[in-house]
Amino acid sequence: MSFEALGLHATIVKAVTESGYTVPTPVQEQAVPAAIAGRDLLVSSQTGSGKTAAFMLPALHKLVSADVVAAPAQDASRGRNERVRFTAAKPKMLVLTPTRELALQVTTATEKYGSYMRRIRAVSILGGMPYPKQMQLLSKNPEILVATPGRLIDHMESGKIDFSELEILVLDEADRMLDMGFIDDIEKIVAATPAGRQTMLFSATLDGVVGNMARRITKDPMVIQIASNSNRHENISQRVHFVDDLSHKNRLLDHLLRDESMDQAVVFTATKRDADTIADRLNIAGFAAAALHGDMHQGARNRTLDSLRRGQVRVLVATDVAARGIDVPTITHVVNYDLPKFPEDYVHRIGRTGRAGRNGLAISLVNHAEGMNIKRIERFTKQLIPVNVVEGFEPKRSAAPARSGARPGGWKPGDGRSAAAKPGQRSFSKPSAAPREGGYSRDAAPRGPSTGAPRREGSGGGYRGTNPRSADGSRRSFGDN
Ligand code: ADP
Ligand code: MG
Repeated sequence: MSFEALGLHATIVKAVTESGYTVPTPVQEQAVPAAIAGRDLLVSSQTGSGKTAAFMLPALHKLVSADVVAAPAQDASRGRNERVRFTAAKPKMLVLTPTRELALQVTTATEKYGSYMRRIRAVSILGGMPYPKQMQLLSKNPEILVATPGRLIDHMESGKIDFSELEILVLDEADRMLDMGFIDDIEKIVAATPAGRQTMLFSATLDGVVGNMARRITKDPMVIQIASNSNRHENISQRVHFVDDLSHKNRLLDHLLRDESMDQAVVFTATKRDADTIADRLNIAGFAAAALHGDMHQGARNRTLDSLRRGQVRVLVATDVAARGIDVPTITHVVNYDLPKFPEDYVHRIGRTGRAGRNGLAISLVNHAEGMNIKRIERFTKQLIPVNVVEGFEPKRSAAPARSGARPGGWKPGDGRSAAAKPGQRSFSKPSAAPREGGYSRDAAPRGPSTGAPRREGSGGGYRGTNPRSADGSRRSFGDN
């Protein structure tokens, strides 16, 4: 299956080919033709499976085919009485995303996929961006808006955006937006758009609250669920290292980051403060490290991510929210300095490595009291995470005897060997032990370590194509390797 065969306009095929994509991913294969045909879509597929192009390519196709030309740029021009006059922007397409980083990524991808389409403009409307800058962007009357819900509402309420001509609405990572409490904003935004719009919703799960909303805002949607049970993060080796105390943890972190197979790493901390402290400490130790968290200004966050992409930052120390959606293929290591609060965040964290068909290594530094948290993650991912011991960094207390599989060192990028233990070694079928199997009611119950985490499906893995390995075991290349 080729991108031409999906029915996409030649300019789009050209841009996609230049991006190094040779074949559509499974989700693209299903979503693109349906979206071109005008269907509403409800899509769940794993992180890294190429969902951005799955909605953006057909959208661009529709915009270019309809030869949509927005009204001329509506410069905020000065009237006679010196008052700035501003006509509301009338976008044709709106993409809602949970975070600023994700919105910027979608905008960048749109520019890439639409690079041969002259008249299409895409802009991000984000919290944290200076207001005059946003007004300037909106005054160009862009065809495509990519926005986080909160800031968009501000602009809608002050009459800066008019959705009466909107044709396509996309909710990206809808489950996450609901997690972040955006449901009222989303409802308000959807209500302001024409009933005849095309709606595409992407989410790790289509159960529960997200599913209810999804069905309310779509018409006769085509439901696309790309099974991921068989290929959850198989290109990412996962390990647990037990540590005795903070000093042991810090020494081990330093050691792991000096691994010669380490190209770039993301280290996750529980708090913004720790992200800053550890980044400082690593810098002093000679690593090119930088922190990324929600207290930083947008400009600083963007600069840090740019430096990461350019390879100037080798170790990013980040909190969960800030790191969501980071897509830098050269990240070889993810280190959980602190375990995430919720098992689904573990899946998102480790998905920062092993992007675009590469291999990755995800290491969790765990003190002995956190054994239960690891078990919860294992139940959630239905995978065992082997315990490893590095020579010279052995914990004083040995790990639980059931946990075998310790295998010091050994992982090299590209060796394709998964350290995951064989399934069936331990059973996950005890429903009483599993936190709310199958249930999904995160709005009803406050989440916390003690409440158990809602289960989410289909958020594991990264796109590696349907046949990631050829017979000789080498990885299929996506061109940007
Ligand atoms: P998702 O939103 O499903 O997590 P993204 O849209 O962010 O995934 O895509 C993940 C990565 O895969 C990006 O680096 C993207 O450029 C790349 N990608 C997307 N589609 C293809 C394709 N058809 N072939 C190769 N790489 C692709
Ligand atoms: Mg995405």
